[in-house]
Amino acid sequence: MNKLTDPKTTLAVISRYNFDFRKKFGQNFLIDEGVILRSLDAASVGKGDVVFEIGPGIGTLTQYLSDAAYHVVSIEIDKKLIPILEETLQGYDNVDVINDDVLKVDLLSLARKYNAGRPDNSMRNNDSTQYDDSRRYDSSTQYDDSTQYDDPGDTQAAARAELHRDSLHPLKIVANLPYYITTPILMNLFRRHVPAQSITVMVQKEVADRMTAQPGGKDYGSLSVAVQYYSAPRIVETVPPSSFIPHPKVTSAVVTMDLYETPPVTAKNEDLFDAIVRAAFEQRRKTLVNALSSNSSVPFGKEEITNALSRLGISASIRGEKLSISEFAALSDVLTLLSA
Ligand code: SAM
Repeated sequence: MNKLTDPKTTLAVISRYNFDFRKKFGQNFLIDEGVILRSLDAASVGKGDVVFEIGPGIGTLTQYLSDAAYHVVSIEIDKKLIPILEETLQGYDNVDVINDDVLKVDLLSLARKYNAGRPDNSMRNNDSTQYDDSRRYDSSTQYDDSTQYDDPGDTQAAARAELHRDSLHPLKIVANLPYYITTPILMNLFRRHVPAQSITVMVQKEVADRMTAQPGGKDYGSLSVAVQYYSAPRIVETVPPSSFIPHPKVTSAVVTMDLYETPPVTAKNEDLFDAIVRAAFEQRRKTLVNALSSNSSVPFGKEEITNALSRLGISASIRGEKLSISEFAALSDVLTLLSA
């Protein structure tokens, strides 16, 4: 079979299976080989990598990931796509498809499982590394869904320690995301500390602008702070609607996020940091003091917040959109100390 980036091949598969695109699952399938190859390049996918893909659709990106990586785990919610994937991924023996909702799958346990099966799990990524491909995973792989995540809380350091203890080889995550759940997917990956080295995703262009925005601009918001707290993001390229079947209504963009091994900024209490950031941008026209003190998720009054800002040498009349990530973390830390 030709690669699915050939539009005729994609249309033939769609019609053979009488497949109806489901808007509610954000189904727009890529037909642009150039975009896929440049995304793989941006993610530096190599033969040493285990890659998690979210939403393989009919397997277009999956075919290229399979060619480039050591192993691919693709999580797809739509059960109608599973028989199609069985056909389109025939001969792509290093791919496991899991029929589930990515927001419900325990990705940390899954990462451990695949890490444990690696030929040399002590090895860090090295694109020139060749693994013995005769060691395949069973494609009927079941993983233990009963394992719960640790409470994310202030577990950044704990997760790094765990990564070290398990010698977890960091994964790469590559996906053409279902746009309707872009933020929950990214937050889930970050807050659960899924051991990813990088995340390369197709998102709506407008969302890519927010992910990479700097303080002061209209695009800067809680998503910018969250993404940049955990990673260094960059827009790889913008992608027109004509690169997909069916054409989405919006322009898209590929974003690569390299996750920090040692984050430049760490808040002592990540839950409070999150609550402060969210409250600051929920009412962005208000001053930071008013936005935070009137928000029930931030357990501090006007006086304490003004006092904390003054300790940091920040004006009490500032709006949240002007604060850098390190200033948000410093504010969260001072408030944590005040409440101790
Ligand atoms: N990767 C394919 C491609 O590029 O052609 C398809 C991308 S399409 C934009 C998004 C895919 O995510 C669809 O196949 C959709 O069914 C799947 N999806 C939507 N919500 C999902 C969820 N919660 N968990 C897993 N997959 C999901």
